[in-house]
Amino acid sequence: MRFCPRCGSLMVVRRAGDQPYWVCPSCGYSELPSEPQNATIVEKIRHSEKERIIVVNRAEELQTLPRTSAQCPKCGYGEAYYWLMQTRRADEPPTRFFKCVRCGHVWREYD
Ligand SMILES: [Zn+2]
Ligand SMILES: [Zn+2]
Repeated sequence: MRFCPRCGSLMVVRRAGDQPYWVCPSCGYSELPSEPQNATIVEKIRHSEKERIIVVNRAEELQTLPRTSAQCPKCGYGEAYYWLMQTRRADEPPTRFFKCVRCGHVWREYD
């Protein structure tokens, strides 16, 4: 909602092709929206445990993960990427997740 800076009337949205613009029905004043239409909206998403694993599954992020010696429960390979994640209350230690270097299997360290 926007009010006309010239006469104070409620302005309405019109379109010129794909470009929307504000126009005052009382005095005819018009202006383009000041905000860019493609402004990036950053959403704060609270990922579930499963979703976070999917996020880390992206290849470019894997390249930055450290490796450790851990045996894959699926294929038995002895090296895996790992990362820490706070999955429970903040005062509890984070859970360690592994992703097998060879087969890509993801598992978590149980304690
Ligand atoms: Zn006006
Ligand atoms: Zn494996």
